Amino acid sequence: MTHPILIVGGGPAGLAAAHAVASVGHRSILVEKTEILGGAPIQSGYAKLVPSGLWAKDAIGGMVRRVETNANVDKKLKTVVKSFSGQPGAFVAELSDGMKIDVGAAILTTGFTHFDSVNKPEWGFGTFPDVVTTTQVEQMISSGKGVRCPSDDRKPKRVAILLCVGSRDRQIGREWCSKICCTVSANMAMEIREELPDCHVYIYYMDIRTFGLYETDYYWRSQEEFKVKYIKARIAEVTSDGHKLIVKGEDTLVKRPITIPFDLVVHAIGMDPNVDNMTLSAVFGVDLHKQGFIARKDTYGTMGATSRPGVFVAGAAIGPETIDDSIAQANAAALNAIAAAKGVSLQAAE
Ligand SMILES: Cc1cc2nc3c(=O)[nH]c(=O)nc-3n(C[C@H](O)[C@H](O)[C@H](O)COP(=O)(O)OP(=O)(O)OC[C@H]3O[C@@H](n4cnc5c(N)ncnc54)[C@H](O)[C@@H]3O)c2cc1C
Ligand code: SF4
Repeated sequence: MTHPILIVGGGPAGLAAAHAVASVGHRSILVEKTEILGGAPIQSGYAKLVPSGLWAKDAIGGMVRRVETNANVDKKLKTVVKSFSGQPGAFVAELSDGMKIDVGAAILTTGFTHFDSVNKPEWGFGTFPDVVTTTQVEQMISSGKGVRCPSDDRKPKRVAILLCVGSRDRQIGREWCSKICCTVSANMAMEIREELPDCHVYIYYMDIRTFGLYETDYYWRSQEEFKVKYIKARIAEVTSDGHKLIVKGEDTLVKRPITIPFDLVVHAIGMDPNVDNMTLSAVFGVDLHKQGFIARKDTYGTMGATSRPGVFVAGAAIGPETIDDSIAQANAAALNAIAAAKGVSLQAAE
C-alpha cells in the first residue's frame, strides 16, 4: 500500500499540492499550524490579487473550499510536525497532537514571513500611526472600509508608497528582491486612485521590477490611466511636522534633495524566510539557502526536490514567489512526491 503524502502548510501552495494529489486519487495529510487554511492571502486579508484582479477571499477561498470538501485530504489545523524519520515510501511523522503517521513523502509548503517594518525605524513605522504597510492597506480595502489615515480616520489627500522595505537592503541583511511588491504597489496605487480620485499617489522606487507582462498592465497603466507619479529616490527618513508626514530623501535622477509632505505613507514590505525555517530544517533534515529559505536541490531536474530524498518544497518557502508560480511548483512537487511514495524514480535532467 502506498502511504499518503504529508503536506506541511495550508497556503496557496499547500492547497494546490493537496488538490493535485487528490486529483489522481491519492491521499494526503495537510498539516497547518494556524487555525485557518489559505496562507498569507487569507491570514493577512489581501484585497484584489495580481494579476487576476480577483478578491483573495474568493480566489484563495475557493481553493480552501475545494480542499475542505475533499475526502482524500485529511486536514489537521493548529498542528505542526515534531519529528520526521525514515525513507522515501516509508516515513514516520510525529505531530504536535501526539499522533504518529506513516507517510510516503512530504511536501513543505510553509511559505514566508512578512517583513516587520519596525526593523526599518528611520522610515517611521511604529512611530507615526499614519505610516502603515501594504498588508494594512490591503486589509482596509478588503474590509470594505476604504483607505483611511489610522490616526483620525480621514481620507488621505496625498499618499506615498515606499518600495523595497525589507528587500534589497544589505544594511538589514535582506539582499533579495521580493519580486511581487512593485506590481502589488502599482495595483494598490490604482485602487487608491479609483476609490479616492482627488488623492495624489506617489511611488518611491530604486528600480521598478514589474516583470514580464506586468509592465504594461501595472507600471504603464498606473501612470497613463491613473496618473500615479513615480519618483526614483533614495529615502533618508520619514518624519512629521506635527500635521503631515514628511518624506525626506534624494531624487536620484536629478540628484537633488527632496522633502515632500504626505497624509499616509505605505511601506511595501518584502517577503522574509519563514521564521520556522531553522526548526523545519532540523525536523525534516533539509538544507537551507544561505538567505534562510528552504534550498532546492536542483533547478531543472526533479522539481521541488530538497537535499533530502522524498522531501519536496514548493511556493514561497523556496524564496519570494507569486501565487500562480507557487501553485505551479506545488503541482510539480505533488507529482514528484507521489512518485517518491510509490518508489518510482523520475529521471533528473541535470
Ligand atoms: C503585501 C503582499 C501582497 C501580495 N499580493 C500578491 C498578489 O496580489 N498576487 C500574487 O501572486 N502574490 C502576491 N503576494 C505573494 C503571495 O503572498 C505568495 O505568493 C503566497 O502567499 C505564497 O503562498 P505559499 O502557500 O507558498 O505561502 P504562504 O501563503 O506563506 O502559506 C504558508 C502556510 O504555511 C503555514 N505554516 C508556516 N509554517 C508552518 C509550520 N511550521 N507548520 C505548519 N504550517 C506552517 C502558514 O500558516 C501558512 O498557512 C503578495 C505578498 C505580499 C507580501
Ligand atoms: S519587487 Fe520591486 S519593491 Fe519588491 S523588492 Fe523587488 S524591486 Fe523592490
